[in-house]
Amino acid sequence: AEAAWQRTVREQFPIIVAHPELAYLDSAATSQKPRAVLDAVQTYLTTSNANAGRGTYPWANRTTEAIERARDRVKEFLGDPEPHHSAVHFTSGTTEGLRTVARDWLTGYLTDGDEILVPFADHRANLEPWFEARDLLAARGVEVRVRALPYQEVSGDYDHRALASAVGPRTRFVAATHVHHVYGGDMNVQRLRAAVGPRVPICLDAAQSVGHLPLRVGDPALDVDFVVFSGHKAFALPGTGAVWARNTRGPLLRPTGWQGTPNTVGVVSLLAALDWLDTVGVDRVGAHVSALATRLTDRLRRLKAYEIVGCPASLASDTALPAAQRRHGIVTFRHRDIRSDDLGFILFSHGFMVRADSLCQAGTDDEDGSVRVSLHVYNTAEEIDRLLTVLASLG
Ligand code: PMP
Repeated sequence: AEAAWQRTVREQFPIIVAHPELAYLDSAATSQKPRAVLDAVQTYLTTSNANAGRGTYPWANRTTEAIERARDRVKEFLGDPEPHHSAVHFTSGTTEGLRTVARDWLTGYLTDGDEILVPFADHRANLEPWFEARDLLAARGVEVRVRALPYQEVSGDYDHRALASAVGPRTRFVAATHVHHVYGGDMNVQRLRAAVGPRVPICLDAAQSVGHLPLRVGDPALDVDFVVFSGHKAFALPGTGAVWARNTRGPLLRPTGWQGTPNTVGVVSLLAALDWLDTVGVDRVGAHVSALATRLTDRLRRLKAYEIVGCPASLASDTALPAAQRRHGIVTFRHRDIRSDDLGFILFSHGFMVRADSLCQAGTDDEDGSVRVSLHVYNTAEEIDRLLTVLASLG
């Protein structure tokens, strides 16, 4: 039943079906698009394309309605229990989303002497905006201290015990990541919330979790104030993303009016992508992807020429972990003797498309980088096995 379901889902991706000789293993960078999304885009552009928010005619009105519907849909998708007290901003992706939170909200929220905690070893997009906000404030004479959210090497998670002492009376904001883009592990947001206390706003980079894990912001386990994600990693078009802001813990982001021409077709694609994801079932997608990642990790571990990156002792066997702590579709590794970019080219000569570089991780100056295999619902166990055969032949 699982195999039949997966085949049906895979067949909905025209680019995948058209290239059986290739295996797309770079979905953490961006996902492929299902026919439902392509069709929604085609329908919109051939029936309603117009600018939003200023129409006196049906195409413009339909465009405006689609954007409003997409805003509601993001809230619904995230299980927002109080949609009248939250805001959704559409962005071009997670980078712009985090920058929006930093520039449009954080700079107005912090005061002299405040401290913020941010992740120093996550994606750069979740580090630079917070320093930029600090610099903007410094130029206005407001001194804000940026501190590192402590990591615990053994678990790959934030260090919740060290966090308790890193949090002080002046801590006014925490930026965190949901699923790490190199390690693929799930950061425990509930423990993070417990460590920082009930009043400090948390901004969650959900770039690698939307579409892989159900995100329910009404659940006490996900008590965060901002969820920032990329639509394009979750089946929508390139140049799409959103910021969801809970406005109940304080005056957070407000819904904006129309400022210029929005990416209407991108927003239409995001609406279609979220509908499609709900139809397929995020739980089911996540289970499939984690199972493939576990298959790859467990077998790769037996190949002595490879070192799995970010695979601490407690993750020694993914199969022994509770589902929530498994790798969410991301497995990063290095070969002992082959440079990572060379390995990337070798893998492509066998039809495997992977990421091979420093992976935008903050705090690393590792020139050689690593190879990242990242999976989504269209990938198959057969692709993983073929990849393992090639990897085994290299080492
Ligand atoms: N944060 C994380 C955790 C990511 O994996 C990525 C994408 N690699 C980003 C932020 C940036 O996303 P985008 O390219 O959509 O701006």
